[in-house]
Amino acid sequence: MTQEPELVPPLPENYSSMVLLVDDQIMVCEAVRRALVNELDIAFHFCTDPLKAMAVADEVRPTVILQDLVMPGMDGLNLVREYRKNSSTQAVPVIVLSSKEDPTTKGEAFKAGANDYLVKLPDRIELIARIRYHTRAYLDHVQRDAAYRALRESQRQLISANLELERLTRIDGLTGLGNRRYFDEYLGAEWKRALRAQTPLSLLMIDADNFKRYNDAYGHMAGDDVLKQIAHAIQSGAGRSTDLAARYGGEEFVVVLVDASLAQASAIAERLVQGVRDLKISHGTGHVTISVGVAKTVPTENETPHDLVKAADLALFRAKSGGRDRVVVDGV
Ligand code: GH3
Ligand code: MG
Ligand code: MG
Repeated sequence: MTQEPELVPPLPENYSSMVLLVDDQIMVCEAVRRALVNELDIAFHFCTDPLKAMAVADEVRPTVILQDLVMPGMDGLNLVREYRKNSSTQAVPVIVLSSKEDPTTKGEAFKAGANDYLVKLPDRIELIARIRYHTRAYLDHVQRDAAYRALRESQRQLISANLELERLTRIDGLTGLGNRRYFDEYLGAEWKRALRAQTPLSLLMIDADNFKRYNDAYGHMAGDDVLKQIAHAIQSGAGRSTDLAARYGGEEFVVVLVDASLAQASAIAERLVQGVRDLKISHGTGHVTISVGVAKTVPTENETPHDLVKAADLALFRAKSGGRDRVVVDGV
């Protein structure tokens, strides 16, 4: 069975009051204690030293504070202001107990943050009713606050789970690079941007050389591991934050270079080829290598991103025909 106690309002019998009376006169404390002694839902604490009131309140966690106004060494109103500043007592209802009835004193009490005002010694029935009323209001407030915070926390978790999910839909599971879907999206967006701004957009099409033979010789698992290493070399070599490295499929990768000249794009391609050579992963009598086709365009209305992919693919084909382990630049 599932339980959601946080979101269900407390039952009436759960509204137990914890009363803290702060009054320097022990006789008043005794009178109030006696007034409340038969009420099983009301626990009672008192403090006769106003300088200790805050510490006692921190410890007792009252649901209602009964506060005397005139005490030696401390103005009761200053204590009320202190309660309002302290995080543990900020929302605790304060009933001022005063020997004075005059409107000025009352007004000042409410201005300082008191919630209620009773003239000493209050009528027993009235005192009990007000304690219960304020306790209920306070506990409801605390509970709403907790429910609200729980709600905010679960909203926060949902947002971060969604962000993570969104991230995962863009990532290739094996290599951690962008996946094909993300590449298509990214190229489409950068294409539009470059078309508007009339800036260059370059594409590297990368393919692992003789990879079928690698799998046949070392096994598919070892092949996967090599793909991860190649991906890492591409990611490190492609560098800039506006460059996207993605897995195009199988043992093929792509890099989108925003705002790069053909010379810059081809230099990066050379760096990637060298980076994979430097891995020195044994493959037959030599090492694992890649071939790269490079294409660049300043997009026009008559072209599509697909044309750029085709051009890079054609350059890659020439790199393969030319002997692999090399860069071929479109149009060169
Ligand atoms: P070329 O130099 O002409 O590119 O030769 P190649 O053998 O690399 O090319 P081909 O297209 O004939 O074969 C690609 C190989 O890549 C075959 C396939 O088993 C392997 N491959 C594709 N995807 C994966 C993968 O996710 N993991 C592993 N281990 N191998 C893969
Ligand atoms: Mg291939
Ligand atoms: Mg290949």
